[in-house]
Amino acid sequence: MLDPFQEDTHDPLSHFRNKFLVPQKNGKDQIYFLGNSLGLQPKSTSSYINEVLNQWSQYGVEGFFIGDDPWINYHDKLTRPLSSLAGAMPHEIVVMNHLTINLHLLLASFYRPNKKRFKIICEANAFPSDQYMLETHVRHHGLDPATVIVEATSADLPEIIQQHAAQLALVLWSGVNYYTGEKYDLESITQMVHKAGAIAGFDLAHAIGNIDLNLHKWNADFACWCGYKYLNSGPGGIAGAYIHERYHADESLPRLAGWWGYDKSTRFIMKKGFKPIHTAEGWQVSTPPVILMAAHKAALDIFEEAGIQNLVQKGKRLSDYLIYLINDINSKAGKSLIEVLTPSSKGCQVSLLVKHNARQIFEQLMENGIFADWREPGVIRVAPVPLYNTFTEVFNFSEVMKKLIA
Ligand SMILES: *Cc1c(COP(=O)(O)O)cnc(C)c1O
Repeated sequence: MLDPFQEDTHDPLSHFRNKFLVPQKNGKDQIYFLGNSLGLQPKSTSSYINEVLNQWSQYGVEGFFIGDDPWINYHDKLTRPLSSLAGAMPHEIVVMNHLTINLHLLLASFYRPNKKRFKIICEANAFPSDQYMLETHVRHHGLDPATVIVEATSADLPEIIQQHAAQLALVLWSGVNYYTGEKYDLESITQMVHKAGAIAGFDLAHAIGNIDLNLHKWNADFACWCGYKYLNSGPGGIAGAYIHERYHADESLPRLAGWWGYDKSTRFIMKKGFKPIHTAEGWQVSTPPVILMAAHKAALDIFEEAGIQNLVQKGKRLSDYLIYLINDINSKAGKSLIEVLTPSSKGCQVSLLVKHNARQIFEQLMENGIFADWREPGVIRVAPVPLYNTFTEVFNFSEVMKKLIA
C-alpha cells in the first residue's frame, strides 16, 4: 500500500499548492475537493487583475493600444496555453463569453437542421444547463424537442448513432460526465459521428484541465468549456471554445455575429456587411472582458508551468488511491457501504454513493473541514485535483469517512 506522506514528499508537483489560496475551516486549511466546481484562487490572480486596473487608470480607453499588455491583443496570450490543454492549434481556440452562451452560438453555426437531417443525440442526464440549452435551441428552429433530441448512454451510443444515422445532424457529448466522473473516448465518438455524416461537438466543462485532450487530432468539429472549474479562473470566469480550422474560412456557415468577430484589419472602418476573422476568433461577438481574461491568464500560466501531462498523471493517481481506500473500507466491513460510481476510465473526480445516512455523513465531512459536492440521492462527488490537493488529504478523507460510516 502506498504511503501518502512519502508520495507527497516525492511529488514533483507538490510546490504548486503554495500558489493557491486555500480556504480555512477552524483555523486550518480546508480539504478542498471541489476543484470540479470552483477551482481555487491562484495567489497571483489579484496582481494580474491589478495590472489591468492600473492600465485603465493610466490610459483610459487607450489601454487597448498602449501599455505593457495592450488589451487589443490580450486574447492572444490565452490561446497558446489553452491550445495545449485542448490539443488544438492556437487559431482554433477562442476565449469568450460563458459556456452555455457559447453552446448556443456554436449550435447556431453547427446545427443546421433540414428535412432529411435534424436529429441531435446527447447524453442521457446531461448537465441541466445543456438540456435547457438544447431544448430551447431546437424550439428556436421551430422544431419539437421530443422528435429531435435522442438521449443515449456511453454503452448504447454506437447503436443509437447507427439507428438514427440517416437523420442525424449532430451529436453533442461531454468529455467527462459531471455526475459519474466517467471519461469518454472522444476520438472514437468523433469517428462514429463522422461516419454517420453528422457533426461531433463536445462540452468539456469537466474535461479541460483534467484529462488529456487532442481535439484537432481527433478531428472534433467544435467544443466548449468553462473557465472556473478545473481551470481556476474565478467565479463566472471567462469561457472558451474550439472550432476545427476547416470551418474558419467558410463564410456560408450561419453565425450570430458581433463586431469582435469582424476581420481585424478593417474592423474599425465600421462598414456594413459582416466579414469574419478567418480563425476561431471569427466567432467572437463582444468586447473582451479584460479583467476576466487577466484572471484566466494568471491561472493558465500555472498550468503551463506544471505541464498538463504531469497533472493528468498525478490526478489519475490521486483518484486511483481514493478508490483503493474506499474499496478497503468496504472489504474491511465485509459489505458495500460506499459504492464507487466512477468507472476506471476517469479523470480526477470520483463519485461515491453512500448507502446509509448519506446526507448526515456529508454534513459531518464539512464539520471535519472536508469539502466535497452533494448530489441527490446520496452521491458525494470528490475531486482531488493535482495542482493543489495531496495524497495525505485523500488519506485523511478516507480516515474520516471510515469513522463516520462506522
Ligand atoms: C458547469 C457546467 C455548465 C455550466 O454552464 P455555465 O454557462 O458556465 O453556467 C454547463 N454544462 C456542463 C456540462 C457543466 O459541467
